[in-house]
Amino acid sequence: MHVIYGGTFDPVHHGHLRLALEVSERLGNVPVSLVPCHVPPHRGETGATAAQRLRLLELAIAGEARLRIDDRELRREGASYTADTLRQLRNELGADVPLVMVVGTDAFAGFDRWKEWQQIPGLAHIIVVRRPGTALDPQGEPARLVAERGIESEVGGTGPLSGQASGLILELDPPWLDISATGIRERIGSGRSPRYLMPEAVLAEIQRMGLYGACPVTNF
Ligand code: ATP
Repeated sequence: MHVIYGGTFDPVHHGHLRLALEVSERLGNVPVSLVPCHVPPHRGETGATAAQRLRLLELAIAGEARLRIDDRELRREGASYTADTLRQLRNELGADVPLVMVVGTDAFAGFDRWKEWQQIPGLAHIIVVRRPGTALDPQGEPARLVAERGIESEVGGTGPLSGQASGLILELDPPWLDISATGIRERIGSGRSPRYLMPEAVLAEIQRMGLYGACPVTNF
């Protein structure tokens, strides 16, 4: 089984890392690949560059064999669409390996506006992680898809997701840490400490590189 979890990771924090580990454990300790996405240049002002986000991710997952990084979207020119990434992975994995994409309800709520969204269930399974304060519109296309393709549970490597390559949707409700990258950037930008919201090595590197307005001599 191949599992991907995409995001901006600007910067990566304990919310992302805990979620990835929870998903890995629920699927029988399969590796989860974090896939940092391309960020349009206009967002870049206070954010980190692709190379810096990648560096922070590497520091964050060091020593945890179940977490990996897939930097394919950063290596591509311009914006990446999920359907393209999944198609590329499907070509590499072959037709039979289960491919799973993890998304939060916030992102999945707009699924029917994604490029070529109708192709996606033919390429991968989807794990929708419930984000507190967000819900699917019961009348909308994403909720209809869940009703049509949803499964109740997946028990460590032996459930329905392992039994077929794509096409199923599993809703998960793991503990959700109330941490956001936006909140971290705001804290740093206003000189407050983001300590304990992310791994210490990530914080040290943010300081060293002076990211998000951090002053290298600030003592967080
Ligand atoms: P930003 O505040 O910049 O929007 P973010 O912290 O929400 O960033 P993203 O990189 O945009 O993180 O999100 C990547 C994925 O991580 C999304 O699917 C999102 O639902 C999920 N995610 C974001 N915050 C958390 C959290 N605290 N716990 C678990 N998953 C999270």
